[in-house]
Amino acid sequence: MDSSEKIKAADPEALQIVKYPDPRLRETCTPVDDIDESLIRFVEGMWRLMLESRGVGLAAPQVGVTVRLFAASPTFSPDDLLVYINPRIIEASGSVEEEEGCLSFPLVYSKVKRSETVVVEAVDLEGNILRETCTDLHARIVQHELDHLDGRLLVDRMGAVSRIANRKALKDLEAQFAR
Ligand SMILES: [Zn+2]
Repeated sequence: MDSSEKIKAADPEALQIVKYPDPRLRETCTPVDDIDESLIRFVEGMWRLMLESRGVGLAAPQVGVTVRLFAASPTFSPDDLLVYINPRIIEASGSVEEEEGCLSFPLVYSKVKRSETVVVEAVDLEGNILRETCTDLHARIVQHELDHLDGRLLVDRMGAVSRIANRKALKDLEAQFAR
């Protein structure tokens, strides 16, 4: 399926968060090839779900639609809803370790080392290319969500100590999925 077919197959009013270890979270996502009405409605659905879920970022595969875009709201404000279509990081510098969570991993938190500053290039909803320098939480969100588009997850970024600390939460998620 190409990206438009994947987006059209989703009901933007009924999006739900896909949780670890659902295999859809492991797919490498398809580039978005067309910005049309259904894509705009899909992004609006993602923003709604992200705010309802009290998240600051949400990648399309997290709602089961494996295309290259993610929603973000670094200030957690309905007035500050961002979308990055076909994003890529073109520059990264610095290194900072902070605690991270993920809507696909309820009750799992881990320190993760990320670049402190990234320059991201993406397409916006009007089809324009945007280039943004992001720092701090905003940079962390961009790196975390971009990982999702390549099937890379929080659990892959964890060190040994975090794995042990989160062992029960991860096992519980695996058991819930198997049920
Ligand atoms: Zn995540």
